[in-house]
Amino acid sequence: MTDKVVVITGGSRGIGRAAAIAAAARGFRVVVGYASNQAAANEVVSAIEASNGKAIAVKCDVGSEADILALFKAADEFGALGALVNNAGIVGPSIRVEDMSAERIERMMAVNVTGSILCAREAVKRMSRRNGGQGGVIVNLSSVAAKLGSPNTYVDYAASKGAIDSFTIGLGYEVAAEGIRVAGIRPGLIDTEIHASGGEPDRAHRLAHMVPMKRVGTAEEIANAIVWLMSDEASYVTSAILDVSGGR
Ligand code: NAP
Repeated sequence: MTDKVVVITGGSRGIGRAAAIAAAARGFRVVVGYASNQAAANEVVSAIEASNGKAIAVKCDVGSEADILALFKAADEFGALGALVNNAGIVGPSIRVEDMSAERIERMMAVNVTGSILCAREAVKRMSRRNGGQGGVIVNLSSVAAKLGSPNTYVDYAASKGAIDSFTIGLGYEVAAEGIRVAGIRPGLIDTEIHASGGEPDRAHRLAHMVPMKRVGTAEEIANAIVWLMSDEASYVTSAILDVSGGR
């Protein structure tokens, strides 16, 4: 995969940032997608370039099909696509289902589900041997919430990640004979700013006692699993979903 391009949605902060840096260290040319925080995205590009890697930042709200098309156009100009990390994801404030607005649920599904499927569509068009491509890998970020359901907090988020798990399995079967592997990762409680965006900055540490390993995970621990799945060491892994959750 050396010199191949990887598109990482939400590659500017948290797990995506760690994955961008780890992928660059393994020779990928990294397209760092971001929604609004350009400074964070530029910082990731600078960090990669400081280690002699190659990266560009591209603004892309995955809730917008036009943005996704522009993201992959920029990737085409950067080199041949070898991998996609569907990492961008959002949570909402903790509430019960009976209090959820249609707008909240629609935005959750647009970003977490539709955005991931549309990005995968663009990646398959480019990577499938059926379309003249050279194969590649798609890694989808799910969550242990898909199994736990997240009652009283964000069942809508958990449902969006359940959809991602089904999508990983189905797309993996669909393109398995075309040189594309598709895998999912279900992170547990990871120390990133996503908890603050849901209104609870301390959430991961507050719940750490519920993790069998009794600690939160780091973005780098998820990134290590992402780049392994992207590597030839995972050459027989597809339609599979890996829990990286300290046992949770
Ligand atoms: P994070 O720290 O909140 O970072 C989110 C990243 O996604 C940022 O780069 C952000 O860009 C970008 N982003 C946000 N909304 C976007 C949109 N609409 N379109 C494109 N990019 C968008 O999140 P994280 O904790 O690293 O989570 C990454 C993934 O892992 C998500 O899919 C999440 O559901 C999943 N996950 C996380 C945990 C956890 O405990 N952290 C657990 C399970 C699963 P800007 O900075 O420009 O907004």
